[in-house]
Amino acid sequence: MTDPNAPSPASAPRIFPCGGCGARLEFAPGTDRMRCPYCGHEDRVTAPTRGIREHAVETLFARSPAAQIAPYHFVCQGCGAHVQGDHLAQSCQFCASPLVADPSNDAQVPPEAVLPFSVTQALARESLAEWAKSRWFAPNSLKRVNEAERLKSTYLPHWTFDAATDSTYVGQRGEYYWVTETYTVQENGESVTKTRQVRKTHWYPAHGRVSRFFDDVLVNATTKLDPKKVTALEPWPLEKAQPYAHEYLAGHEALRYDVEPEQGLETAKQIMAGVIDQDCRRDIGGDEQRVTSVSTSYSDVTGKLMLLPVWAGAYLHGGKSWQIVVNGCTGEVQGERPYSAVKITIAVLVVLALLVLVVVYFLNSS
Ligand SMILES: [Zn+2]
Ligand SMILES: [Zn+2]
Repeated sequence: MTDPNAPSPASAPRIFPCGGCGARLEFAPGTDRMRCPYCGHEDRVTAPTRGIREHAVETLFARSPAAQIAPYHFVCQGCGAHVQGDHLAQSCQFCASPLVADPSNDAQVPPEAVLPFSVTQALARESLAEWAKSRWFAPNSLKRVNEAERLKSTYLPHWTFDAATDSTYVGQRGEYYWVTETYTVQENGESVTKTRQVRKTHWYPAHGRVSRFFDDVLVNATTKLDPKKVTALEPWPLEKAQPYAHEYLAGHEALRYDVEPEQGLETAKQIMAGVIDQDCRRDIGGDEQRVTSVSTSYSDVTGKLMLLPVWAGAYLHGGKSWQIVVNGCTGEVQGERPYSAVKITIAVLVVLALLVLVVVYFLNSS
């Protein structure tokens, strides 16, 4: 019987030796290459020739829950240090060599695909500067956020699900019609009767059946970063995803998932339900629709784990840490931002002063 909390056996860390100087290569965002941070030597990433596969969800569900997964145990190839870590990929805390685990014999679902970084750190900083500049009433510390803070390149785990759906629904179709109503008003002390057109709705019972195939419904699989911000980074150019290769992770951080695939599929079904509801309404037709019940059956449900790239950082303001994430493919920024009490107070005072001027002006001119 093995102790579930014992570190995984030295998870055969991947080595990416530099052919130029013997140091370690890292994946270079915005390219399809590995680059040496010391001598600039480059190698093309040898991506697997297999395509990206979808897996029957039952095989995903059969893996161990994330809570029972032991941390990885790395032996750094750069300095020989023993490093324990919860991440699929990280850097050695002593010599900064990339440490990438081999998740293929892990108890967790291994990543099937990865969307490589296309936004470099410099571009991410530019996006962040633009974002900070366009925030109203932001304290000056925010405007300097891109200079001061460290942005970490991190791959976030996501589930994607495919499913064929067949739904029967019951609802009502509303059709508009107009009626003429009479009403009375007082005009010059006399009652006058007038008419007006009023819109009403006739409701007819409706029922039917719609079907749709869903492809790559995306669900965030980590709670380590604020899930609302991560979801707000959508849409992702998923068509640029590559079959998983360790090389893409070298020099970057990659988180393991802590949202189980069962839970992920439930979220995906909620997303699908929103689309199916629209399908039902289109099928009902008329001017307005009510959908009272929908019953959906799912078939050919498949899923996979995919890693999506973000630049993540935090900055300190007013003794509090504020989180920022930048989409590593589109450069979109999602972040918390403080409001400057000083700037808001000044703005309020300016508005009040203007009001006073206006009032004084009208008092004098009347
Ligand atoms: Zn080198
Ligand atoms: Zn090391």
